[in-house]
Amino acid sequence: MGKLYANVIIDISHESVDRVFQYRIPEKLQGNLTAGQQVYIPFGKGNKRRKGYVVELTDDAEYDPDKLKEIEGIVPGSVSAQSQLIWLAWWMKEQYGSTMNQALKTVLPVKQQVKEIPKRTIRLLLDGSGLKEAIALAQKRHYTLRLRILEALAENPVIPWEAASAQLGATMAALKPMEEQGIIALDERRSYRNPLASMERTMEQLSFKQGEEERKAGERNGWETKVLLNSQQQEAVDRIWNDYTQGSRKTWLIHGITGSGKTEVYMELIERVLEQGLQVIVLIPEISLTWQTVMRFYRRFGDRVSVLNSRMSQGERYDQYERARKGELDIIIGPRSALFAPFERLGMIIMDEEHENAYKSELSPRYHAREVAACRAKLSGAALILGSATPSLESYTRALKGEYGLCTLDRRAKEDSVPPAVEVVDLRRELKEGNKSIFSRRLTELIEDRLEHREQIMLFINRRGYANFVSCRSCGEALRCPHCDVTLTLHKNGRLICHYCGYSIPVPKLCPVCGSPYIAPFGTGTQKIEELARKQFPSAKILRMDLDTTSKKEGHQEILSAFARGEADILIGTQMIVKGHDFPRVTLVGALAADLSLYAPDYRCGEQTFDLLVQAAGRAGRGRHPGTAVIQTYQPDHYAVQAAASQDYRAFYEQEMGYRRLMGYPPAVGLLTVQMSSRDEQTLLSEADLLARYLNERAGAGKDLQLIGPVNAPVYKVNDIYRKFLYIKQENYDILIQIRKIAEEYLKGREAARLLSVQYDLT
Ligand code: ADP
Ligand code: ZN
Ligand code: ZN
Repeated sequence: MGKLYANVIIDISHESVDRVFQYRIPEKLQGNLTAGQQVYIPFGKGNKRRKGYVVELTDDAEYDPDKLKEIEGIVPGSVSAQSQLIWLAWWMKEQYGSTMNQALKTVLPVKQQVKEIPKRTIRLLLDGSGLKEAIALAQKRHYTLRLRILEALAENPVIPWEAASAQLGATMAALKPMEEQGIIALDERRSYRNPLASMERTMEQLSFKQGEEERKAGERNGWETKVLLNSQQQEAVDRIWNDYTQGSRKTWLIHGITGSGKTEVYMELIERVLEQGLQVIVLIPEISLTWQTVMRFYRRFGDRVSVLNSRMSQGERYDQYERARKGELDIIIGPRSALFAPFERLGMIIMDEEHENAYKSELSPRYHAREVAACRAKLSGAALILGSATPSLESYTRALKGEYGLCTLDRRAKEDSVPPAVEVVDLRRELKEGNKSIFSRRLTELIEDRLEHREQIMLFINRRGYANFVSCRSCGEALRCPHCDVTLTLHKNGRLICHYCGYSIPVPKLCPVCGSPYIAPFGTGTQKIEELARKQFPSAKILRMDLDTTSKKEGHQEILSAFARGEADILIGTQMIVKGHDFPRVTLVGALAADLSLYAPDYRCGEQTFDLLVQAAGRAGRGRHPGTAVIQTYQPDHYAVQAAASQDYRAFYEQEMGYRRLMGYPPAVGLLTVQMSSRDEQTLLSEADLLARYLNERAGAGKDLQLIGPVNAPVYKVNDIYRKFLYIKQENYDILIQIRKIAEEYLKGREAARLLSVQYDLT
């Protein structure tokens, strides 16, 4: 029996999802409607016939059912991308537990009336000595943004404005003077909103010419826009493509070591998909969405490529979605939100670094981009290609079961490039033998060697501000945030800052607990490491990159390009420096305290540590000189460390899966986490207990459920709000979805209980 009522929105955009109108479904349509379908409805006073999208079907009438108008009929024709996205939102709501509103807001772009920015390209007018002079001048005057733009132009004489803005942080304020000084030309391409068709044609020719120019400039500079694939790459392409042309749309996993040429495989596949007149979404975690990567795609595919990233304004993003919808783009590259690009002819979704945590949304609906990508691919008849040097356990398990196709690339693609040598240093032994420095003797020796040979070094710790707190030597208490359950982190400016809520105070003179004056900083953060490195290697030029140095809009890119230019010998930072970047002169990577992340209160910490160490080691020796990675650790025998040292994914996988099966963690079982919060601790306590008891009675019987908790969240209090988790394990994912619905129903009936929020997370 179909539902009785349909909620319909008329204008699909982020802002209008709140304006939902309810209609009665006529008998002949009951059971024939789904979310996303376009329908004809009578609208407004005059009951004018309009089109709307069904967003939800329900049996609950919001008003007097007799007063509801009736849907007139289904709009005939093919299913648009818009319809698919609304259906996808509905699926996400069902799967992950959120309101329809939250789900729609996730998939629909924010419409914002923005000033029309003409699309531009930036073209370099100087060459040879003129260019050198301009660069030298920018360097001397510390015009960092100009320097960055000039350097990018030296490599690519024509750059699309979008890429320059999104990836380099270029602004018109910086470009205009450069134009006036005859350094660059700003060429306008057509603006997609331009209503004048004739003008559009001229502009189209222009943009075509510019694409050509870009390519020619590339050839002059000796780029290969296309490499000759090696046998492993070719085999991967052939297998996937054969399957594709036979009409199969399965998911593939490309397991390729760092530098094995996965990106070239993607690009070859993309080219073939484009030849079929279809479109492609390329997902890349934001942190690896670097200038180099983006330009590789531009070089090969010209300006039918567009980028999305979180630094873009909502207006800019909306523009990209519009261009996608109108078919003016063939490829969109971006973080997980690029998944919702309204392509009408989607042929393939590529998801690079598929193991990355950034693919999991922490906002409701708490979706995983991999699962949503699979769903979208299925809807659109597209193939999904996952790639990683360290596949997630979930994906690799599916590949082993044959649910995914598996391609393996186990050699570096460049002929003279070899995987790094990895050495493990036991920090316990260092200490025993009298070395109290955070740099082991072996690492020190290698750093000195690299400094001497003018090669570059990256040093990282696994977490920001770890243990960088202040404690009292008398009573042993650490200084904590009064609103959150965490210690405050000491920053160089002498202030203590809460990384959860932003609370900040100067370091007090006396211990707030016992009044003792003996309070002192403790532990090792990135700032501290920088200080120590400066002391121990006084001749070295050092750069540091962490959330503090990169909180400025473009700080991140600035530090990376300075390092790429060779302005420093050592780059120090958190894990963010070793993800996805490609610095050919780096020949040494040091993980200063590899096991910090092994203590994290998370069953995935072994996997995360392994991934990070393998990816980090992969940063060394990308150029001509072979690289070395040094892993310093207190747990040299831990299997994650051991497997990373031997770069043996398979060995790690077997061990880790054994542990997950033994402990009952995903992907061995499904895990539903119910996260409850309240400002009142007592309310939270009793409500969480009641829910646990209810689920045990109602849902537990005969379902092989394992209920754990309620337990305090890893950080119990944040911003004066208390948080508890309830874990439910069951092998069958679908049963967990049912359980979630039972919990939702139950909590709806307990409105009086007033938990501040309940969120569901299904893994
Ligand atoms: P991954 O994405 O697996 O890390 P990339 O595609 O970035 O690897 O390739 C690593 C390096 O090897 C890049 O500089 C790329 O240009 C180069 N490369 C890739 N495939 C080939 C090939 N078949 N021949 C020569 N160089 C290649
Ligand atoms: Zn004290
Ligand atoms: Zn706080």
